[in-house]
Amino acid sequence: MPSVHRQGGTRRWLVEELGEIANLDRVTEHRDQEGAAGETEPTVRLDGVSKHFGDLIAVRDLDLDIGRGEFFTLLGPSGCGKTTTLRMVAGFEDPTAGRVLIDGQDVAGLPSYKRPANTVFQSYALFPHLSVGDNVAFGLRRKKVPKHEVTERVAAELERVGLAAEINRRPSQLSGGQQQRVALARALVNLPKVLLLDEPLGALDLKLRKGLQLELKRIQRDVGITFVYVTHDQEEALTMSDRIAVMNLGRVEQVADPEDVYERPETTFVAGFIGVSNLMPATVEAGGVHLDNGPSVPAAQNGFRPGERCQAVVRPEKLHINRIDEASDGSLPSVEGTVESSVYLGTSTQIVVEIGGDVRMTVLHPNASEAERQRLPGGGSRVKLSWHPDHMHLVRESRAGSQAAAQEAPGRDLTKPEGEEK
Ligand code: ATP
Repeated sequence: MPSVHRQGGTRRWLVEELGEIANLDRVTEHRDQEGAAGETEPTVRLDGVSKHFGDLIAVRDLDLDIGRGEFFTLLGPSGCGKTTTLRMVAGFEDPTAGRVLIDGQDVAGLPSYKRPANTVFQSYALFPHLSVGDNVAFGLRRKKVPKHEVTERVAAELERVGLAAEINRRPSQLSGGQQQRVALARALVNLPKVLLLDEPLGALDLKLRKGLQLELKRIQRDVGITFVYVTHDQEEALTMSDRIAVMNLGRVEQVADPEDVYERPETTFVAGFIGVSNLMPATVEAGGVHLDNGPSVPAAQNGFRPGERCQAVVRPEKLHINRIDEASDGSLPSVEGTVESSVYLGTSTQIVVEIGGDVRMTVLHPNASEAERQRLPGGGSRVKLSWHPDHMHLVRESRAGSQAAAQEAPGRDLTKPEGEEK
């Protein structure tokens, strides 16, 4: 989302957003060019892209292919470089190194209004004095599209976003969610090859946000246009995306579909950012791992070799919890620990268990039966945590955390806290 320090702050962003509106008429329509590029060509390719702001490295050496018709999400914490990446595709920033290709064309030096891309911002940026219909028609009219076609396309797009009945209203007469749908219709009516969305639901309340997430996904499937979506909200990313790139300190840590990112994270950062960081330090051995805080347990090797250090992840909902003296399935791998806290969360109960060496595991137990919930062990209880071997996954330390990564590039290194770079 826009931040004030960015060269001229809010004013510059406003100019960009209004510039984006004014240039809606110049977006190349992909309908006319279907088949011009090979069907297998990615819509967006980032090839070794880096972005430095002075001595700060915001994005480093990014390689990404975003396929045709994909809903692709850049996910990561504030400041990890998501927006900067999106802005380089849009043409609002130039890469310091590397190439951006849209539909096979290197767009270096091409201003944003000449790129076959539209951006939807968090702040809608609608013309307040124009009706909903005129806002959506704006680009088509500027392009001198025949009147009857404008009417048809605007009506179809408003129908798609569920605002056909609001065509004559002004933006001020609409809710935030409705205004964002108008912004979406206004971008989609131009049939860009790629739609760039920068936290478009960020200003909406949670309930509306959840509704719109599903609707955005439906709309994207319907139009078949490639969406590149920026968010820091992991649930939003998991709900909507075909694939997710998880970013950390200017790097992509993993690109995968939502299930893989959640079930099979590749690094400690991904395991912790998507969901609860349930990590047990371990040493790999033949057929499994030896847990620092427990026994040897079976695990898929995931490319590790015996003797290597790793972290073993088990998601909270996959852990079973039993009192130590309670009968449980002895064939399952398990560790022992002490309950630190137990919190009622409505649909589930969250229990934090210390398994020794300051390692904590979180268990989520569904509150399906009141009697069962009453029997859950409370604070101080000695317990056994167990899991199915398929539900344990071995991950590496994040590259961003390693010494090697810190030494790779000149300039201020975001992989270390300020003042500790040397
Ligand atoms: P957020 O979700 O908070 O917007 P983000 O992941 O999108 O975060 P970016 O906005 O891409 O992150 O910023 C990445 C880093 O680059 C941050 O440290 C940010 O302060 C810095 N940065 C971004 N734009 C500029 C700029 N124009 N000048 C200087 N530094 C910048």
